[in-house]
Amino acid sequence: MLVNTEGIVLKQRKIANNRRMITVFTKNYGKISCGTSLSEKGKGKSALAIRPFTYADYDIFKSRESYSINSAQTKKSYYSIGEDLDRFLVASKFIEYLDKILEEEQPRPKLFDMTLEFLEIITRSTRNYDTLLYAFIVKTLRVQGVMPELHCCVNCGKKLEDFGYSIGKDRKAHAFSISSGGAICEECSEREKSSGTALIYRPNFDIIDTMQYFYDNPLERFEKIGLKEDVSQDIKRILGQYIDHYLGVGVLLDDVEWR
Ligand SMILES: [Zn+2]
Repeated sequence: MLVNTEGIVLKQRKIANNRRMITVFTKNYGKISCGTSLSEKGKGKSALAIRPFTYADYDIFKSRESYSINSAQTKKSYYSIGEDLDRFLVASKFIEYLDKILEEEQPRPKLFDMTLEFLEIITRSTRNYDTLLYAFIVKTLRVQGVMPELHCCVNCGKKLEDFGYSIGKDRKAHAFSISSGGAICEECSEREKSSGTALIYRPNFDIIDTMQYFYDNPLERFEKIGLKEDVSQDIKRILGQYIDHYLGVGVLLDDVEWR
């Protein structure tokens, strides 16, 4: 059966007989792996359409067991992502994250639109790419079914205003427990620590507030928001541990520096 769908290339690799295997996040079929004989060489619109970071329209032959791209028309190539190393590193982390959370053949239209939005914004941004990636990841947590508790203590339900630690004059922050999955009060922290399995962070800013801000605001808001280096590193570590723990995705847990 011949089908048509829009899609975004996540990755490609060469296989035998001059063919390539391309992983495409399609609008209608979700993530699929497609074989193709289309070549990257040449200037045709189909040449671009098999490269990562490309948004294209695909004619695909779908059989019971496989997909094969017959032809493609590039709608937009985000090739300029590769012109800046930091932007490229963050965009690559983004693609890796998407590839890990998407299940084969499960359509995710809303996430598809968010993906295009992310690529648009990171392409026109000139810095602070890290902030954009954190915002995207936090926004996906609810649909992945692993949204952390940000409104009260995850263990006992105590309200945020009734606990917290001081981070300066009249400023309070709330600890975040990876193991319990959200904000945690002092008593519950102590109990968790004594059980020996606690993974609790108390950075010098309110991580609960920050995550809520990422969740509440549209992605485009983050085009111009830059985080201080130490704040960015703390979020990377906490969010990185969190998605590793709940989604088994370790993309933020490396030592590569990027902004
Ligand atoms: Zn509690």
